[in-house]
Amino acid sequence: MTVWPQLEPLLAQVQKPARYIGCEDGARRPEHTPGTVAWLLGYPDTYEVGLPNQGLQILYEILNERDDAVAERTYAPWVDLEALMRRDGVPLFSVDTHRPAADFDLLAFNLAAELTYTNLLNMVDLAGVAVRAADRTAADPLVVIGGHCSYNPEPLADFVDAVALGDGEELVGEITEVVAAWKANGRGSRDEVLRALAGVPGVYVPSLYDVAFEGGRLASVAPRAPEAPERVEKRTIADLADWPYPKTQLVPLTEVVHDRLNVEVFRGCTRGCRFCQAGMITRPVRERPAEQVRSMIDAGLRRTGYDQVALTSLSTADFSGIEQVVADTVDDPGACGQVSVSLPSLRVDAFTVGIAAQIQKAKRTGLTFAPEAGTWRMRQVINKLIVEDDLYEAVDAAFSQGWRRIKLYFLVGLPTETDEDTLGIADLARRCVEIGRRHTGSASVTVSVGGFVPKAFTPFQWFGQNTTVELQRKIDLLRKATSGDRGVKVRWHDAEATLVEGIMSRGDRRLGPVIEQVWREGGIFQEWSEHFDLARWTGAMADHGLSVDDHVHRHRTEDEVLPWDHLSAGLHKDFLWQDWRDALDEVGLEDCRWTPCYDCGACTGYSIEHVVASAVPPAGGSQGTAQGVAGVAVAIGRRSS
Ligand code: SF4
Repeated sequence: MTVWPQLEPLLAQVQKPARYIGCEDGARRPEHTPGTVAWLLGYPDTYEVGLPNQGLQILYEILNERDDAVAERTYAPWVDLEALMRRDGVPLFSVDTHRPAADFDLLAFNLAAELTYTNLLNMVDLAGVAVRAADRTAADPLVVIGGHCSYNPEPLADFVDAVALGDGEELVGEITEVVAAWKANGRGSRDEVLRALAGVPGVYVPSLYDVAFEGGRLASVAPRAPEAPERVEKRTIADLADWPYPKTQLVPLTEVVHDRLNVEVFRGCTRGCRFCQAGMITRPVRERPAEQVRSMIDAGLRRTGYDQVALTSLSTADFSGIEQVVADTVDDPGACGQVSVSLPSLRVDAFTVGIAAQIQKAKRTGLTFAPEAGTWRMRQVINKLIVEDDLYEAVDAAFSQGWRRIKLYFLVGLPTETDEDTLGIADLARRCVEIGRRHTGSASVTVSVGGFVPKAFTPFQWFGQNTTVELQRKIDLLRKATSGDRGVKVRWHDAEATLVEGIMSRGDRRLGPVIEQVWREGGIFQEWSEHFDLARWTGAMADHGLSVDDHVHRHRTEDEVLPWDHLSAGLHKDFLWQDWRDALDEVGLEDCRWTPCYDCGACTGYSIEHVVASAVPPAGGSQGTAQGVAGVAVAIGRRSS
């Protein structure tokens, strides 16, 4: 069954029809049989944003290599096509074979951003599937979510059947086996398969938990079925070396974001930045062997024809032997000097002249550093222990090797932040331009500013987020401070969108009706400024008797039940609380990759360890060894475990 005959005439009437046709190099057209479990892997944003998602591409390959599964992909149709689809009764479809979404066994979404939640509802509805999980029958697909947002899935509890926590490589196989057995036994009740799924480690089935509130506060979340564990633990693959995926990265026919070969060099991060959810929930560190990285780059470039490779991770310069891998790639005689390497996530204190010199041999790509905060005091609070000299040396290395423009990323609205901290951003940027001018008259620095949103499973999960007015005031302060500086440009993210992200990131099940109302009133593509409308969200919160202030701006207390307490990212709550107290005391914590363990729980609880090729921190790193911090009033705390 395919919707192609109805879809094809509509494509001439929409923008970018290439979004919907599939046929990319690396795409599969799997054969569906009654004995195979059919997964539709979805990304709740446009094709251009969703296609490069490595998580989905990895699972797409792993599932299609199995005998008992097939996997296809889907993305959110843009509003022009959606209107035509709804007019003509064309359901959501896969881009690979244009099979209707409702014909799959599972609709599995990767959720990377809270503002995409309404798109998820829209896609389920477009599939012809009931939006609320309770209204679905055994004949309907199971709606599953994974990705970073699923660490607090409670706002979506009414809409999803199951949540996959952590690394998906092994988990998708185990879910496939449960669904295959259910199908082989004649597809009994939906409750039956949900209970079986709840027995798979790492799978959370929200409908099997009772939630109680007392006096406007969450009192408890407790399992109401024997199969449902008290606490659902995330899944972690022990070694990335066992999973050299994607082997055949998709090459789109149309322009997408991050249009390049992406090779993941390690997963996890133990630098311990206290605002960073990704770093906390993906511990421990698992490096891919350098030899495997080289062969993935080599095979990937030859197959795809890309002339750019991105080495991805949460902090790529921390990868053991990074300089050698970069050198081998740009010096590859087969590439004739045409291949550029981008390191999208670079730590300032690990960026050396050596790396700069290697990268600049080929086409130069943009350089972004993320000091995150403007003063050393603030960087101790957030545990991003980069001293100013680290930044200036990195910037000097970049400009000396021919870069003319660099980007610096900062957060405002961090705990304990003062105006002095905010204005420190302007000072840093100004100084970076001065350094650049020693090398080129056209040196410029773009300061990109985002509003801080506290996230689940971080030490800042107890912090009350800044109001929109306060965030905007800080951004204005910064703009004014830099207005006379030639060479410093300030860009900022919409503080109103930051507020909605804040509502969702620490919300509980009471938000389900809010999300549904915003969606029913037309609030989709909320990540896109032309579609975002704060009034819809605040209106829906008020209609359901919920206070924005209580959800977003209120500090949580130590004894408060948090909506994600029945889930586990591996981290002990008391470790996070102690780290929060250390933040308020402006005490930094060394990187446990190279120091004794603090027993945060991420390794000890799972009997796994960091997989790091090098026993020493990368050159230039001031954190971990405290090298390079002499003369600076640094407090690095070491806790006994
Ligand atoms: S368990 Fe110890 S070594 Fe592992 S991430 Fe936590 S603090 Fe670091």
